[in-house]
Amino acid sequence: MVMDGLGKSLRGVLDRIKGSSTVDEDLIKEVCKELQRALLQADVNVQLVLRLTGNVRERALNEKPAAGRSAKEHVTRIIYEELVALLKNGEPLEVKPQTILLVGLYGQGKTTTAGKLANYFIKKGLSVGLIGADVYRPAAYDQLKQLGDKVGAEVFGDPTHQEKDAVKIAREGMERFRDKKVRIIDSSGRHALEDDLIKEITDIADATDPDERILVLDSQVGQQAGPQADAFNKAVGVTGVIVTKMDGTSRGGGALSAVATTKARIVFIGTGEHIRDLEPFDADRFISRLLGMGDLAGLVEMAKDSFDEDVDVEEMARRMTSGKYTLSDMYTQMKALGKMGTLQKIMGLLPGMSKMSDKIDYEATQSRLSRYRIIMDSMTAREKDEPSIIKGNRIDRIAVGAGVPASEVRDLLKQYNNSKKTMSAVSKDRKMRRQLAKQMGGMDPDALKELKDIEGGEK
Ligand code: GDP
Ligand code: MG
Repeated sequence: MVMDGLGKSLRGVLDRIKGSSTVDEDLIKEVCKELQRALLQADVNVQLVLRLTGNVRERALNEKPAAGRSAKEHVTRIIYEELVALLKNGEPLEVKPQTILLVGLYGQGKTTTAGKLANYFIKKGLSVGLIGADVYRPAAYDQLKQLGDKVGAEVFGDPTHQEKDAVKIAREGMERFRDKKVRIIDSSGRHALEDDLIKEITDIADATDPDERILVLDSQVGQQAGPQADAFNKAVGVTGVIVTKMDGTSRGGGALSAVATTKARIVFIGTGEHIRDLEPFDADRFISRLLGMGDLAGLVEMAKDSFDEDVDVEEMARRMTSGKYTLSDMYTQMKALGKMGTLQKIMGLLPGMSKMSDKIDYEATQSRLSRYRIIMDSMTAREKDEPSIIKGNRIDRIAVGAGVPASEVRDLLKQYNNSKKTMSAVSKDRKMRRQLAKQMGGMDPDALKELKDIEGGEK
């Protein structure tokens, strides 16, 4: 079974560009045709497809590549940007009082997402009531109740599992949670689109008049995403999409079809089974991943443009997660940061790293840059590799050499120790490491071994 048809065929288009000898009108024509085929096969709406490929053709033929960018990179970039534009069609979910109805087929992650959303709003200071209107699955109420208890959201539903009228539960739940800021209604699914399901959620929507009607879509759903989204959209008017299980291997090509079909925006992605595994949607990241540009190799390509020749990005990324982190590494990082927010960009693009990235104070780092450079220039290679040996006399010697007070050298060491702590936390994050090891597998035997060790240890 091809799980990820769209992503695969889009990557095929990019490979086609990469493998071509020249970029001319013929190639662009051909690439657009392939793009159309890929998108249409994924049930992306015809008008949208034509508009997208029209833009690609127009821009590829008329826009000049940015300085230092090859014609191939230029066309690739345009396709990337147009796909991002296709997905960027709305605002994030607002943090305000509202009613949210979750719809979707079986096992897509509705109930889990209800819990995650409840947690999200509660963390933002809004009270939440969870309404369990899934009368189809036997233990649906208990699952929701468990989640509600965990995050501190009240749950309304039928603990006896006797009630067969989902609309009644939904209506009573709305009444019960009138004083809550946010009401989240979890609905039933089915294995396939069935008339009774469509009728049920239509009736629930009519009875509760939700502000947001969110389609929960498993990222593994490929070709079927379009028709599914279409059916739910016709039934309740989908206003947003949440793509779940983005922590898996699937790249979520179906989401593009769902978005194109419903014209609704993606509001969140689910990145794991835990309550906290809910991330705001980021179209750039999503498309990077879909096109396989989220791979470290792609990242490195993207970042290279803006780096000094002598900064080895690959090595830097490797070291960031290796657990070994020296003053020289910090120096390299800071040098890169001096050029631009590249480290931040890299960290932001890596799965699960956006949170970590927030913890690093980039601006402060940048302002200290030049001073630290001078200090480090007065250190020996060994001192930069093993900063723990820098004590007493060494501090004084370095300070004199750099012409700064000893306290500044100590500041630098303190900064180093803090960075080291962060890096060590990164390198201990299992999911993160595994992801990175996978991405680096092709080039680093140690990383590959590490991947096996981690996966072996997780059984
Ligand atoms: P529902 O039938 O639509 O309500 O789906 P559930 O919420 O019961 O989820 C079905 C399964 O998917 C459960 O085992 C969840 O733990 C799992 N699940 C939901 N969201 C995610 C996610 O983002 N990542 C992963 N790995 N699993 C998820
Ligand atoms: Mg459920």
